[in-house]
Amino acid sequence: MAISPEIRQRAEALIAAERARFAERHPVSRRMAEEAGKHFPGGVPLHWMLDWETPFPLFVREAKGSTVTDVDGHAYADFCLGDTGAMFGHSPAPVAKAIAEQAMHGLTAMLPSELTAKVGSLLAAHFGLPFWQVTATASDANRAVVRWARAITNRQKILVFDGCYHGQVEDAFVKLEGGKTKMKPSLLGQVQDIAQMSVAAPFNDLDAVEKLLAAGDIALVLTEPALTNTAMVLPKHGFIKGLLAAARKHGTLVCLDETHTISTGPGGYTRAHDLHPDFFVLGKPVAGGLPTAVFGFTANVEAEMRRVLDTKTPGYSGIGTTLSGNMLALAAMRACLEEVMTSAAYEHMTRLAKRLAEGLRAEVARAGLPWTVTQIGARAELVFSARPLENGAEAAAAIDHTVERAIHLFLLNRNVLVTPFHNMTLVAPSTTEADVDGLIARFGEALAVLCGEAE
Ligand code: PMP
Repeated sequence: MAISPEIRQRAEALIAAERARFAERHPVSRRMAEEAGKHFPGGVPLHWMLDWETPFPLFVREAKGSTVTDVDGHAYADFCLGDTGAMFGHSPAPVAKAIAEQAMHGLTAMLPSELTAKVGSLLAAHFGLPFWQVTATASDANRAVVRWARAITNRQKILVFDGCYHGQVEDAFVKLEGGKTKMKPSLLGQVQDIAQMSVAAPFNDLDAVEKLLAAGDIALVLTEPALTNTAMVLPKHGFIKGLLAAARKHGTLVCLDETHTISTGPGGYTRAHDLHPDFFVLGKPVAGGLPTAVFGFTANVEAEMRRVLDTKTPGYSGIGTTLSGNMLALAAMRACLEEVMTSAAYEHMTRLAKRLAEGLRAEVARAGLPWTVTQIGARAELVFSARPLENGAEAAAAIDHTVERAIHLFLLNRNVLVTPFHNMTLVAPSTTEADVDGLIARFGEALAVLCGEAE
């Protein structure tokens, strides 16, 4: 058993103690939460911000590089990095400069700008696909890809993997239950049963995928190269290549959503593993933290898009939003792709993430716990399982929110930020060895409390 009843009990006590400690240390955050709560429910501009383990939200005064400073004056080594939006550090200098310069010359005009050709060639050079479109979020990019794939193939269904997450795309809110696809009950306000048009398959099970594709009615497989939104599940050797080959055989398009796995390296998991998907999605950090995302596609897909547009009924396509691809977004993306997402930055990030993963593993071993630590480039993740996970069901079983919350709160009260609702730790170009060693040491202290070796 990955979590014993004793550890869970100590975790519950630790959560209570750390919540009280947080409340004591953050009087200004508390006041701001009350003030903001007059017009923002819970005091936050988006309800997700209440998912941190704290009794009231932590209010930020400044986020720069790998450091977040709160309104009470505490400085944190940030390994959450905005859940990857700030993977390259907060306000990277080249992006901040590009935004400031562009801000004086227009923000949005619903027209291309002088930077458009440059950004297109940077995207092609980084990620290998020849054609691109820009959206405001990764959710929007995935939603656009789903629409295009259905329009191109004239098929209705999409296939996703059990345990997946692709943002606000309703079509991906399905899971496997007793071998059947079911709509996730957590999805709010949904009136049609998504399980009619979306099929869930177990990750890493090529036979199951082949069988589903063989029906010939699936427009698109939408997946991350590794499942990152539950406990991290790495693909088995050859799984993604096998998936791409099977899809091609059955006339199904494939989109690799690299919004999180871009931690792998400058061209994402796709380039690192020489993969050739039909679509490629990247959001969050692609413009250094400004709301921007992209989707890339092959020349074949581009030709199909033209065919669809040439034959479509006049009127709105339903794909796109007004601010997508605006001048400010392009300026930030140019700076990020050219000056921030560099091989040198990734070398530093990956080296420190390796140091972090090894350090966390050593602490887990010292505590005698049956847990593993996975790493994809700049990202290291603690998993409450003795062996690497194979699919979404195993990932769901490996999650223990009580122990996770206890560790996160303990770290937060000792000036280390880790992403809520999973055990991801991300390393930025500005993260230092001292930051990494600090996290490892504090993590070791948390484990000592959980194992009853310390108070
Ligand atoms: N794809 C993946 C794999 C994600 O993890 C997320 C968000 N966590 C998204 C897409 C959506 O990104 P956004 O919330 O910025 O639209």
